[in-house]
Amino acid sequence: MNINNIRNQFPILDTEVHGHRLVYLDNAATTQKPLAVIEALSDYYSHLNANIHRGAHHLAAEATGRYEEVRRQVQQFIGARHHHEVVFTRGTTESINLVASSFAKRYFTGDDEVIVSGMEHHSNIVPWQLAGAVLRPILFSDEGVLDMDAYERLFSDRTRIVAVNHVSNTLGTVNPVERIVEIAHAHGVPVLVDGAQAVSHMMVDVQAMGCDFYCFSGHKMYAPMGVGVMYGREEMLSELPPYQGGGEMISEVTFERTTYNELPFKFEAGTPSVGDVIGLGRAIAFMQEVGVDVIAAHEADLLTYATERLSTLPGLRIYGTAPMKTSVLSFLIGQAHPYDVGTLLDQLGVAVRTGHHCTQPVMDRYGIPGTVRASFAVYNNREEVDALVAAMERIMPMLQ
Ligand code: PLP
Repeated sequence: MNINNIRNQFPILDTEVHGHRLVYLDNAATTQKPLAVIEALSDYYSHLNANIHRGAHHLAAEATGRYEEVRRQVQQFIGARHHHEVVFTRGTTESINLVASSFAKRYFTGDDEVIVSGMEHHSNIVPWQLAGAVLRPILFSDEGVLDMDAYERLFSDRTRIVAVNHVSNTLGTVNPVERIVEIAHAHGVPVLVDGAQAVSHMMVDVQAMGCDFYCFSGHKMYAPMGVGVMYGREEMLSELPPYQGGGEMISEVTFERTTYNELPFKFEAGTPSVGDVIGLGRAIAFMQEVGVDVIAAHEADLLTYATERLSTLPGLRIYGTAPMKTSVLSFLIGQAHPYDVGTLLDQLGVAVRTGHHCTQPVMDRYGIPGTVRASFAVYNNREEVDALVAAMERIMPMLQ
């Protein structure tokens, strides 16, 4: 992998921040976009823009064709059996809300439990609470490893679904989702996997994983904001009622009664974000051109290097030291508040995220207000890790 060639494809990396060249290490929040994606958006709005599916004219047919091509691209990218198992949403949050809402309508009986991991993002906690479920969290060790024995003990005749993340956005742990699915299915319980932090870092094969739902966001994998995916196994999706009502999701409407469109359109009410979907297709092509395995190896090297270098700083504590980790490094130093660390790093051009990262139960687990989080993407390099460490060394005297 030629890192300079990759970096040259991301114009934003030339930005100056407070007189310093930007060092962007907030990739778990959102990744930057390569020129190919930016140009795909511009091209769409310059030459292709039309509402899809309903138009008789040329542009509508072209836009529809491209939109549906991306559905097949996503199918292939995540190893789904059918293209109609891929539903476009606004992002992971909407995908999980869709499943929670429709699944609860279909299967909840008033005495319902959902098993989640103790390290879920709020977007895989709150939708289930809104749906009326009692949450049963899987505890995890100090290192950030799920207690699989405790997991098995959580099943009861009230368990309706297991909802876990593939990769923790705070600890970086890669969870054993295949095993989690195997155990859940042995209890006759389906599994939703939140893949928001996984798809940009590793090969995902939903059939090999065996999950029933897999949700992710385009903007965390080099695609535009405003588009995401809810994959669902055909057998599951056929059983679920629609999430939102409106255009496109119907077959026939009268004032007495409405019948619904076939999959996946049943779950895509209204005008979708067509340009963003096309941008997602270009982002997937970008990842495949570089090679998902190549990206994974590069990021693994950066994570190891950053862990070693940061660990040399006196008083620095890393949160999340699981043997299986990817691309996320959460830490605290001395008694410093994470927000102060983040603000001072920003003055030196280093962008990190601070706070609870929408995982307040993780912070409660460790009894801390938040962490500083550096997270890596394909375009980061060792010099940027050095810049982070040098910036930490510079600000440390100010933190005492
Ligand atoms: N799940 C995880 C693990 C995340 O890290 C995030 C975002 O940070 C989300 C869900 C929510 O993603 P979005 O805001 O793109 O819907």
